[in-house]
Amino acid sequence: MPTVETVRGRVSSDELGTVFMHEHIFLVDREVRDEYPALVWRDDRDERIELARQALRELKERGVDTLVDCTAPGLGRHIPDVVAVNQGVDLNIVVSTGYYTFADLPRSLKLYPRSERTREDVLTELFIGDVRDGIGDSGVRAGALKCCTDAPGVTPDVERILRAIAWAHRETGVFITTHTLAANRSGLDQQRILAEEGVDLTRVVIGHTGDTTDLDYIRALLDRGSTIGSDRFGFYLDTNATLEERVRVVAELCSLGYTDRIILSHDYSAHVDARRPGTFFDGFPHWRYTHLLDDVLPALREAGVTEEQLDQMLVANPRRLLTPGQPY
Ligand SMILES: [Zn+2]
Repeated sequence: MPTVETVRGRVSSDELGTVFMHEHIFLVDREVRDEYPALVWRDDRDERIELARQALRELKERGVDTLVDCTAPGLGRHIPDVVAVNQGVDLNIVVSTGYYTFADLPRSLKLYPRSERTREDVLTELFIGDVRDGIGDSGVRAGALKCCTDAPGVTPDVERILRAIAWAHRETGVFITTHTLAANRSGLDQQRILAEEGVDLTRVVIGHTGDTTDLDYIRALLDRGSTIGSDRFGFYLDTNATLEERVRVVAELCSLGYTDRIILSHDYSAHVDARRPGTFFDGFPHWRYTHLLDDVLPALREAGVTEEQLDQMLVANPRRLLTPGQPY
C-alpha cells in the first residue's frame, strides 16, 4: 500500500480519511517577532501551541483525519512548532516545501548562485531535500510542493520558483499545490509554466480558485486536468465570492461532472501574528477550521450535492493527490 509522509511519519494512503487540503497552523514572521514584539499578538509559544491543539482536536472529534499545512518558507514555516502541536492531537498533518512570495525571493536565496539548468537550480535541490531527507533537522518530510502567483503576475523570481517546483515534483512524485489570485486568472499562467517543464497537470491543485465565480476560467483549469481548490471557505473578502456563490459554483461543477477535480478547505490558520483583535482579520467571523462542517457541507447538500460527491472531494481526491507518484 502506498504511503504519505506526515509529521508523525508515514501513513498508509487509505488511512488518510477525510482531508482538509489547504490549511495553515501558524503564520508568523520571526524577524518581526524578535525585533518588534509589540506588533505581535499572542507571543507565548506554549499558549499558541495549546490553542492550536484545541482547535485541531475538535476537528478530529468531528471526523477529520488529515490536514495539509500549506505553510511554505516565506510564510514563517517552523516545523518544531508543528511537531509540538501534533504531540497533543491525534491528526495526520502533512507539511509543505516550496516558496511563498508574490514577487521576489529573499536576498539570501536570490543571490545564491543559480545553475543555468532549472533541474540543477539550488531551489530545486532545497525542495527535493525537504521531501527526501526531511526539513532542517526535524526528520519531518514534506508531502506537498507549494508555489504562488498573485497580483504582480509571473515575475522573474515567481517563474524561477514555479520551474523549480516542477522539477522537484518530477523528481519526487509529490503533488503541487498553489496560491493564486483568481481575479487575474493566474492559475492559467501556472499551468502553462508547469506544463512547459513537463508536469502532468493532474498532479496539480490550483489553489483559491473558489474565490471566483468565473466558470469559463474555472472550467479551463479543470479541462486541462488540474484539481481546483474551493479552499477559502470563511475568508470572504469583499472582492471575492460569498459563501452562497462558492456553494453554487461547487454544486454546478459537480453536476457538470467535475467532482473528481475539486477539493474543499478553509485556508485558515490557528494563529496569525497579525491577527490581533481590532485588525483586518476581524472581518471574517466564519473563518475557522469547522466552518465546512458547520455551514458549508449542509449548504452543499441543500444545493443537491450528494454524500458520494462530498466523499469524493474530501476523501478520494485528496488521497489520489497526496499519494506520491513515480518520478518521471
Ligand atoms: Zn494558504
